[in-house]
Amino acid sequence: MIEVKDVHKSFNDNEVIKGVSLSLNEGEVVTILGPSGSGKTTFLRCLNFLETADSGSITVNDEQVTFGQANANDILQLRRQMGMVFQNYALFLNKTAKQNIMEPMVIVHGFSVKEAEVRAAELLEAVGLPDHGDYYPAQLSGGQKQRIGIARALAVHPAVLLFDEPTAALDPELVGEVLKVMKGVKDAGVAMIVVTHEMQFAYEVSDRVIFMADGVIVEEGTPQQIFETPKEERTKAFLNRFT
Ligand code: ADP
Repeated sequence: MIEVKDVHKSFNDNEVIKGVSLSLNEGEVVTILGPSGSGKTTFLRCLNFLETADSGSITVNDEQVTFGQANANDILQLRRQMGMVFQNYALFLNKTAKQNIMEPMVIVHGFSVKEAEVRAAELLEAVGLPDHGDYYPAQLSGGQKQRIGIARALAVHPAVLLFDEPTAALDPELVGEVLKVMKGVKDAGVAMIVVTHEMQFAYEVSDRVIFMADGVIVEEGTPQQIFETPKEERTKAFLNRFT
């Protein structure tokens, strides 16, 4: 369903993504692990055109876009199929939870306000916050804010959700509620690419684990392969830090 080929990205003369390819089946969950600075976030942002990759291509549901040659319409078409969840939630602070979910639906994706209201109510229910639609972000806990972030990303029925360290900014006691919502997203059949340091989530929920370092994929496999029988020294060294 998604095919990403040979992505390269440099900041000035610092090449941080050095030819990364990735394919994803419908409903599949892939986690990307790796040391800080290895290019995980940049790679994810390139997929959604939040960063401009220098070369490579992405195909989502037969729609192919070549990085470096995409026009605004290509980017919009592609973004319609992807939702993104950010480490720091990226909610509008002056809008309620419900307005945060509705805004992109109406402004970017052309839904009517009525349609967006119905969908927002469904999503608030799905992330366990049916009574929080009128709360402002400042009135919500970090975990609740992130659940709103996930609801917003799901609003337009994307084919895939991209998660950039979704629990990294949370107090430990709030991590579980967000991971639980993410498991629910998987159970609903939405494909996900998740950059995370949550090893247990990677082990239990993902179908495939990618270990990235220095801008390349060092190793990938099932969670069992990567966590129990890693082949590469760099993967072993990284995982040893978590045990
Ligand atoms: P990770 O997510 O694995 O921690 P990042 O993708 O955040 O890695 O960063 C990879 C490298 O790219 C780092 O060396 C970082 O300093 C650099 N980098 C990321 N964003 C920018 C930017 N906007 N400008 C310059 N360098 C950047």
